[in-house]
Amino acid sequence: MTFSTLIVAAGQGLRAGPGAPKAWRMLAGRPLLRWSVEALLAAGAREAIVVVAPDRLGAAAEALAGLSGWRAVAGGDSRSQSVRAGLAALSGPDDEIVLVHDAARPFVGAVHVQALIEALAGADAAAPALAVADTLKRRTDAGVSTVPRDGLWRAQTPQAFRLGGLRAALQAGETTDDLALVERAGGRVVLTPGDPMLMKLTYPEDFAMAERLAGAARITRIGQGTDAHRWGPGEAVWLCGVRIDHDRGLVGHSDADAGLHALTDALLGAVGLGDIGQHFPPSDPQWRGADSARFLAHAAKLVAEHGGRILNVDVTLVCERPKIGPHREAMRLRLAAILGLPVSRVSVKATTTEGMGFTGRGEGLLAQAVAAVETPI
Ligand code: MG
Repeated sequence: MTFSTLIVAAGQGLRAGPGAPKAWRMLAGRPLLRWSVEALLAAGAREAIVVVAPDRLGAAAEALAGLSGWRAVAGGDSRSQSVRAGLAALSGPDDEIVLVHDAARPFVGAVHVQALIEALAGADAAAPALAVADTLKRRTDAGVSTVPRDGLWRAQTPQAFRLGGLRAALQAGETTDDLALVERAGGRVVLTPGDPMLMKLTYPEDFAMAERLAGAARITRIGQGTDAHRWGPGEAVWLCGVRIDHDRGLVGHSDADAGLHALTDALLGAVGLGDIGQHFPPSDPQWRGADSARFLAHAAKLVAEHGGRILNVDVTLVCERPKIGPHREAMRLRLAAILGLPVSRVSVKATTTEGMGFTGRGEGLLAQAVAAVETPI
């Protein structure tokens, strides 16, 4: 199911205390705005429109450098005007799902998006909400009284709509909550399970708590890759990006570097983006004889575009010959350079199968790889 997203970051955030507007403050080393944009793109947003104050368009480009799939537009004086400006920039048809999100809620994840999209199948709008757990008090000049909390919910964002429906609802007036417009128009609104992690950073102390939670908003994912190539005539073999003189070569459409191919698949696997054959089909003549470092670099770029950070990689080469040991450090250095990692995060190992199987008989070489990647939830 495709969806687009509108991320509203045009507010001043005056309650957050002195300093830059809150969307531009740093949270665990990244601007607050970047957290939501990265997470919603990683969750599959086809297009992300970021609505910022007119004098912040340049700052948005800086805060979101290296990400693709987003555009920034200038917002208006009120939240509704900003949402209208963002909607005008969205290119989708009336029935496309749009998630409207507040940039002050950095810990949005794919799990929230999935629940909203499913809920929207039977509704005009959907939003995550938490039941009110604390006792509610009202303080007036007359004193303090207790407000029944039965049936009260705290609405969070992202809120899900269909583009046409939200455009029509916004004709109706101003609001600080887009869902309210759909309610007023008699639309069917569904609440999905809220999440304390969708907290809105409003006051200075919220930022302190978010710093402590930032680690919990990332998960570690593991990817695995396997590749094999057949031995054939030749005078050298490419393994893990290093050329080794040898009395045979590996047969393949590209340079047949099984180490790089296995590692490319491991990275793609860690972020769930298919396999090397989908991204670089062997039937495509442009990959004939290709330097497989390009495949690995492309996979690393996809990981980064999905908000991921490679933690470490580990490659195992299985063959009787050539001896890998003398080339191991060169291979680690080469892989580290392609991936932009410290060499300490890169491992290359080798083993034989003691004469057994296709590697033992010298019919082919086997490579296996694993990669650990830290990504948004
Ligand atoms: Mg291969």
